[in-house]
Amino acid sequence: MAKPSLTSKQKQAVAQRANHCCEYCFCQVKYSPDPFSIEHIIPRSKGGTDELDNLALACQGCNNR
Ligand SMILES: [Zn+2]
Repeated sequence: MAKPSLTSKQKQAVAQRANHCCEYCFCQVKYSPDPFSIEHIIPRSKGGTDELDNLALACQGCNNR
């Protein structure tokens, strides 16, 4: 699998839009021991883009689900 190639600027924009909370369970980044990751809502393999609309901030728990 190819690694996501989001820029740190994109990641920052997603985190800011999400108010630094997981967009699934709404836990806050600052209360999490693990760094959050940026998920593609529609995977790129299915035609999803790297636009902000298709990106979501997810904690490790939600990301691994
Ligand atoms: Zn979560």
